[in-house]
Amino acid sequence: MERKVRVRFAPSPTGPLHIGGVRTALYNYLFARQNGGTMILRIEDTDSTRFVPGAEAYINEALQWLGIGIDEGVREGGQYGPYKQSERRDIYRHYVKQLLDAGKAYYAFDTPEELDAKRAEVQNFQYDASTRLGMRNSLSLPAEEVKALIDGGHKYVVRIKIEPNREVLVNDLIRGEVRINSSVLDDKVLYKSADDLPTYHLANIVDDHLMEVSHVIRGEEWLPSAPLHVLLYEAFGWTDTMPQWVHLPLLLKPDGKGKLSKRDGDRLGFPVFPLEWHDPKSGETSSGYREAGYLNKAVINFLALLGWNPGDDREMFSMDELIKEFSFEHCSKKGAKFDYEKGKWFNHEYLAAMPDDELAELFKPVLASNGVDATAFAPEYIAKAVGLVKNRCNFVKDLWANCAFFFKAPEAYAEKDIKKRWKEGTDKLMNELIAVLEGMDDWSAEASEPVVLDWIKAHEYHMGNVMNAFRLTVVGECKGPHMFLITELLGKDETIARIKRGIENIHPVEA
Ligand code: GLU
Repeated sequence: MERKVRVRFAPSPTGPLHIGGVRTALYNYLFARQNGGTMILRIEDTDSTRFVPGAEAYINEALQWLGIGIDEGVREGGQYGPYKQSERRDIYRHYVKQLLDAGKAYYAFDTPEELDAKRAEVQNFQYDASTRLGMRNSLSLPAEEVKALIDGGHKYVVRIKIEPNREVLVNDLIRGEVRINSSVLDDKVLYKSADDLPTYHLANIVDDHLMEVSHVIRGEEWLPSAPLHVLLYEAFGWTDTMPQWVHLPLLLKPDGKGKLSKRDGDRLGFPVFPLEWHDPKSGETSSGYREAGYLNKAVINFLALLGWNPGDDREMFSMDELIKEFSFEHCSKKGAKFDYEKGKWFNHEYLAAMPDDELAELFKPVLASNGVDATAFAPEYIAKAVGLVKNRCNFVKDLWANCAFFFKAPEAYAEKDIKKRWKEGTDKLMNELIAVLEGMDDWSAEASEPVVLDWIKAHEYHMGNVMNAFRLTVVGECKGPHMFLITELLGKDETIARIKRGIENIHPVEA
């Protein structure tokens, strides 16, 4: 019988969520939505030494910003809670005992120093069937001694007892059948009496089972743990409900050499975190996609294609389209190069496709930070201004450099453009142009453009020189959108006032 799809994103709150973690969350979410399933957010905070305050709130905020919805979790609630592992100690204790009683796990009393000494003595030391009887544990010590140690409050750990020389099969939807020999596995620690907490492996498996997780979708870095997880399912007798394994391709450095790290972001100047993160310990700030000016939809589209493709060359996908199209069949086994230039390109595409009035709203804070009172301009004016330049921008903040002249008349004029376009006699031409413009009744671009062009042609003036001098007075430099769309928006009075000011202030320079 097909199982109901229940997936989980299970981050550890040890710092800001890495962009690779966001992709894992996204793929879980897409798969859940595609199958009418449930998306769980489980906080795996059993490693108290690595706990970082603020990390859980950061995870929630990041997922919310990106529109990755959670059905069951700490904030959302649900029937399988608590969804935070540190609140599930009793549950883990029960299952640790179950393994001990069944002889599938054992107590070990070796101190960290003893283990270090062993590792120094034996190269590649592994705690396993071949070595465990030489260590201090409930398999090697007499029962009374074990009891005395525990009753005496000695610190211990519980280790899984792995049977050697067995084939362990991990059936992975992306990687196929991955087989390993159990002898290469360590008798991993499942529980530590010191803090009365399970390790990641035990808590993860117990919770996946109890939360009826149908598919474990996670990064490739967890593949080495999967055989142990399979053995834990067996040890508990839960093989029938073992989840389907799915290990996603790694995110690689932009040059493809090795795993993407925070340092690559610092080195190459792009964020590796969804939101800005202020490290509570070091006080250091790491940049985030949101604060860097990325649109959430662009980040989703970009991440979706890092490891998955639609099977053809389409690139633009909304969340709804991704939910329809996503499939593990089209996920690659190979790592995905983190091409941040592509990320910028996506942002450009989403920015350019955004309705002008929406973009104008995002632009208002940028206006304010440049000392422009947005309320002095009609909303339609701001919308048209951003609409004329959005194609040239990757980010909202880029709009300012491209359309500032709509909000402030030029105070200076580009030196190199003056050199090239402002000659002796240009002022006379501009005065003639003013006369032409003043005579117009219809100021629309459509109507005014032919009038000006006809005037230039009738006098056999140099088209490039006249139009660029005109532009220089209005914009302050020789670039920007179509000239008559600029003047149409600025209006007749403002345009003519700017030409006059240009005539007064621009003087030819010796080349
Ligand atoms: N807590 C692990 C992490 O931080 C979960 C790995 C898994 O999904 O099993 O990613």
